[in-house]
Amino acid sequence: MKSKTSIRYTGWMSSSIIALAMLVVCVLVVSPVRAVEQGKPNADVRIGSLQEYFETGLKFHGHKCPAMPLGIRAGMAAMRTLGVERSKDKELFVISETGKGHAAGCFLDGIMTATGCTYGKSNIDKRHWSKMAFTLVDQQTGKAVRVALKSDFFENALKSPFVQERKAGVPPQDIKPEITDPMVNRILSLDESAFLEIGDVHSVPVEKGKSVFTAKRCERCGELTFANKLRVADDGAVVCIPCSGYKE
Ligand SMILES: [Zn+2]
Ligand SMILES: [Zn+2]
Repeated sequence: MKSKTSIRYTGWMSSSIIALAMLVVCVLVVSPVRAVEQGKPNADVRIGSLQEYFETGLKFHGHKCPAMPLGIRAGMAAMRTLGVERSKDKELFVISETGKGHAAGCFLDGIMTATGCTYGKSNIDKRHWSKMAFTLVDQQTGKAVRVALKSDFFENALKSPFVQERKAGVPPQDIKPEITDPMVNRILSLDESAFLEIGDVHSVPVEKGKSVFTAKRCERCGELTFANKLRVADDGAVVCIPCSGYKE
């Protein structure tokens, strides 16, 4: 009798536990789905993870510095604003206002890392205006957003010990981690509103160039050259740019 009661009791316990477990499973499974439907974590999943971009960016860029992660964060903010994922091919286009030979040019490597707009895919243009800003264009919809570093924030960053070391001629990879790490860690965790100026989404005309697949050998140097850059020399020979005397 005693054991029967205890079996019955155990049975009741088990079904309660199963019911409770099912409830927990439902809550765990259903609530992220609901959250995804509301668009919050979903946006982050589509644009990728900051940590992954940072690790990729470090390998690609070659040293740890503040400007590269600033570019990653700015790129991710632009992607989130347009609701787009990283460019696998040429779905996105970056018009960068950075130049060369100025501090924080590394910003663009961060933008490239996050957005997938690269020199190799030719979905990036550099305006050489020496400004810490860029426009991200969704080539499918023509929607675009300009993202810039806030001037106050950037002015302060230029006074940082990291930039002082750079000014004194220390290569970025030789600057002590005690100087670089806190600055980089801060950038990785800052609120976007503390350093980014995110413009309104606007429309731009989209030009889609076709890739050239035809190539011929230059009649002077013999090197295979894509047809869009073959020129006819004075003597009628079809030649590459360096052999032609033309600039482009
Ligand atoms: Zn750098
Ligand atoms: Zn040639």
